[in-house]
Amino acid sequence: MKNKDHNYFMNEALKEAKKAFLKDEVPVGAIAVKHGKIIARAHNLRESKQDFSAHAEFIVMQKAQKKLGSWRLEDVSIYVTLEPCPMCAGAMIQSRIKDLYFGAKDPKAGAVCSVLKLLDNPFNHQIHYEGDILFESASELLKDFFKKLRS
Ligand SMILES: [Zn+2]
Repeated sequence: MKNKDHNYFMNEALKEAKKAFLKDEVPVGAIAVKHGKIIARAHNLRESKQDFSAHAEFIVMQKAQKKLGSWRLEDVSIYVTLEPCPMCAGAMIQSRIKDLYFGAKDPKAGAVCSVLKLLDNPFNHQIHYEGDILFESASELLKDFFKKLRS
């Protein structure tokens, strides 16, 4: 896919992140794309649901499997505004997604290229991934959120 497409889809994930922001949730958004079409959207809802697993990319994969009627998310690409944590990166291997595109890196909890490089290990399913897509917008939103929290 061309860069233009990546930016378009990441912008859609950022729209979801802004929804989280307005709900006083850590602003992370995600979308699932199959064959160039968005099949699911979600944002972080951990506080609203009091559910540790309610991360944007986790919810978007659950919505995608429901929509496709299969836990095998083959040919599905996930766009998420923040580098996934170990739980979500693990779920990506389990659900067999094709590609992962993320925005900002998460130096404290990221499991793709920060704390861990989970996806680089020889699991039975390999995921192609790229980071730093529109990361300025994603990190700006996170910074604004934590600024708001402190004030
Ligand atoms: Zn996560």
